[in-house]
Amino acid sequence: MADANRIHCTCAHCRLRSLMGPFIIITVGVLFLIAQFSRFSFGDLWPVLLIVIGAVLVAQQLASKQGHISS
Ligand SMILES: [Zn+2]
Repeated sequence: MADANRIHCTCAHCRLRSLMGPFIIITVGVLFLIAQFSRFSFGDLWPVLLIVIGAVLVAQQLASKQGHISS
């Protein structure tokens, strides 16, 4: 959960971290759509979610912390 009282850091690392939630929600939505319109079920597709989370985590680790405001 975002803390509105904290100074909002806009470095690449923190922006990616704040995108994690929406990314997961969008991915789950897309997977449900695929499950709806293809022969795959959500049970077949859920590992994709792990891959997406992993990819975002890796991207976050690689992202620049230049201009990072530590709280
Ligand atoms: Zn930051």
